[in-house]
Amino acid sequence: MKARTSPSELSSSAVEGRTALLANARTVVVKIGTGVLTAPGGGIDRAVLNGIADEVVALTTREPQRRVFVVSSGAIALGVEQLGLDARPKRMDMLQACAAAGQGHLIRLWSEACARHQRVVAQVLLTHADLADRTRYINARAALEALVSRGAVPVINENDTVSVDEIAFGDNDSLSAQVANLVKADLLVMLSVAPGLLDDAGVRVPFVGPGDRSVDRFIRSDTSAGGKGGMVTKVRAARAAAAAGASAVIAPGRAPGVLASLFAGDDVGTLFAPDPTPRSSRAHWIAHTLRPRGTLVVDEGALKAIREGKRSLLPSGVRVVRGTFRRGDPVDIADSKGHVVARGLATYASAEIEKLRGHHTQEITEVLGYHLGDEAVHKDHLVILG
Ligand code: GLU
Repeated sequence: MKARTSPSELSSSAVEGRTALLANARTVVVKIGTGVLTAPGGGIDRAVLNGIADEVVALTTREPQRRVFVVSSGAIALGVEQLGLDARPKRMDMLQACAAAGQGHLIRLWSEACARHQRVVAQVLLTHADLADRTRYINARAALEALVSRGAVPVINENDTVSVDEIAFGDNDSLSAQVANLVKADLLVMLSVAPGLLDDAGVRVPFVGPGDRSVDRFIRSDTSAGGKGGMVTKVRAARAAAAAGASAVIAPGRAPGVLASLFAGDDVGTLFAPDPTPRSSRAHWIAHTLRPRGTLVVDEGALKAIREGKRSLLPSGVRVVRGTFRRGDPVDIADSKGHVVARGLATYASAEIEKLRGHHTQEITEVLGYHLGDEAVHKDHLVILG
């Protein structure tokens, strides 16, 4: 597949930059989509899975300081086979059943593939609820770090059997971006059936600079057979990783040696450059992992104070409270037109902010009969969205 801009057309510094970004990556998340692992006639393509396992192991063998975390799809596709179904079911309970039947098999294939290199595989199943809870989030990070410190290969998947609706990540692209932030990765590689992001003429886009939105018009909404994500979720995941300071690549997962060639600086896939002013891991967790439980519509003065002054949101600036949330829950902060400008953790519950809105901080005790803080959302728990 021809690239939109060949490396020779890219400036030499961009090519060097690409090589440096990839070759120097120390903490890497490699996400493998269902389409990559699925054989043309159905079932898992063992040769592809073994090839990727070989490459993952080689990355850390060549560079012992490098830590690699795998996010592998394929449980549902394998479960379809295990339960003797003709096609991927639509019903949620059957999908959950497929995930349960297929996950054990998936991890066995990974274990066998890595055992050929005397490497142990560790299964890690996560739901969104696990990462939305800060204590569980920190514990998950510690467990993953302990695993790689012992040379194990963590193979992470969404716990699809118990994760539906609002506790679900929904797709492994999104999960992989959250994992990248969890382990503070400097590179996220999403291995896909596509060669990368393609433009209108079907030609690969090699590089997307920080904050570059010009490629958005190329994002098509179709997904590969058997998988849940698509280019929409991949680009969103790449941008989320970039906001946390990681590079992200969408690369052709069925191409033999794809990881080695990426790390050699070859012009493969679509590379999203990291944001030069990344958010802290915790700010990223607030902005990208948490899901808002309500919205605070604020006035112009409050908007200016949080945006430009980097100040807390005070109850006096809140005009409208939407949704029902508890103290500490994530909430969106929106302008009067409904545009969400920030996300943060509410100091007070929705019913309390409803009583406090428009009031000055000195009036809080009088209005509520108690005082938990001066602000509706404290600046330490508030993130301005891009
Ligand atoms: N977690 C799902 C599986 O293992 C895949 C989700 C996705 O395709 O993004 O089958």
